[in-house]
Amino acid sequence: MSEIIEPLRGMNDVLPDEARWWQRLESAARAAFAQYGYREIRVPLLERTQLFKRAIGEYTDIVEKEMFTFEDRDGGSLALRPEATAGIVRAAISNGLLHNQRHRLFTFGPMFRGERPQKGRYRQFHQIDAEAFGYEGPDIDAELILVSARLWKMLGIERVRLELNSLGTAEARARYREVLRAYFAKHEARLDADSRRRLVGNPLRILDSKNPELAELIAGAPLLTEHLDEGSREHFAGLRARLDEAGVGYTLNPRLVRGLDYYSRTVFEWVTDALGSQNAVCSGGRYDGLVTQLGGTPTPAIGWALGMERVVMLMQELGCAAAAEVPHVYFVLAGAAATARGLRLAEEVRDAQPRLRIETDLGGGSFKAQFKRADKSGAAVAVVLGDQELARGVAAVKPLRGGGEQQDSGFADLPACLARLVDAAGPARQDPGR
Ligand code: ATP
Ligand code: MG
Repeated sequence: MSEIIEPLRGMNDVLPDEARWWQRLESAARAAFAQYGYREIRVPLLERTQLFKRAIGEYTDIVEKEMFTFEDRDGGSLALRPEATAGIVRAAISNGLLHNQRHRLFTFGPMFRGERPQKGRYRQFHQIDAEAFGYEGPDIDAELILVSARLWKMLGIERVRLELNSLGTAEARARYREVLRAYFAKHEARLDADSRRRLVGNPLRILDSKNPELAELIAGAPLLTEHLDEGSREHFAGLRARLDEAGVGYTLNPRLVRGLDYYSRTVFEWVTDALGSQNAVCSGGRYDGLVTQLGGTPTPAIGWALGMERVVMLMQELGCAAAAEVPHVYFVLAGAAATARGLRLAEEVRDAQPRLRIETDLGGGSFKAQFKRADKSGAAVAVVLGDQELARGVAAVKPLRGGGEQQDSGFADLPACLARLVDAAGPARQDPGR
């Protein structure tokens, strides 16, 4: 026998039992985006390394140590995307989408970061990503947050909390950077190697450090909110007023700086207390300077990214329903002739009632064994077809939930009969045990 090929660390397989949760998250997100008029964009997984260096910033964890980069055939450097925004901005510029236009966009897909794998932190992970281009005022900031809040509502997720901050304009931040540099320079002996490098390159990044030994020093650092420019102050007040109006709760977190350099003004993060230390489930902010930084015409922009693995874990942890995969009807078929006729019958029901999800057993075995599987599937109704039924030209129909007697149905009447019984049974069980 050949040797087994091991999977890569931090890269997960999503098996069918798990995939149903992903599908539920994806379809809820698509529905939410449709409600707000966001349109899908798809961009490559590979880009020039330079794109991410310029967009995300040289002194970030992502660019310094997490990117999967390699040499292209012609010697140029390519990178697997660590996030989606840079590629979308690149695409918007390359395709001329930003000339006096506004766009509300979303995308889904895998991202790659060479981090230390642990619960909620992987090397290939997946994001749902929303971006808006061409909107200046705080209305779009509020709307984007509302889209995410609606998604929590659609999924039945309650244990999330919104944190908000403003980073001000690039100029205000440049002034603050000097204040911060002076502060950390005074305490240089207490800094770790990463932070010392950042003290020169970008002292703001020190605030984002996950080293617990620096926590106290960071907590004592001067606050950016005390150095905000007037315009950013107004913008931030506008956003807070809109969220208050919409009834979205939040807490102000003056320490929230985010791990990427391109943000300006609004930044936010949805956090949960249900997942342990990987607590950020959706993060974003405004990046008004990024389009010009990547060579495009000046365009205000804002976006967020949601970590799908973490949200799926949260859905599972909180027992949010995954009903989309529960069949409505389960066909129990016994004997070669009845099985052949039953498969055709299931096709006829699918044709006549496209909304019904129908599962045929196909596992063979006794009626008893098949009924057990029918029960476990969560289906509302079982259809039974054996030699006896076939001889009489009927199928036996048995409600599995909410009581009701077994009855016979002629083949022609079966689709309508099943539709009636499924409706009478009400919504599917929350989470069938399979
Ligand atoms: P964290 O602080 O947890 O490292 P981040 O600030 O690096 O997150 P972003 O770059 O803003 O995260 O990405 C947006 C979202 O993507 C995060 O809120 C998180 O839910 C998810 N995410 C980020 N990195 C990973 C990862 N390595 N594995 C799984 N999910 C991730
Ligand atoms: Mg990170």
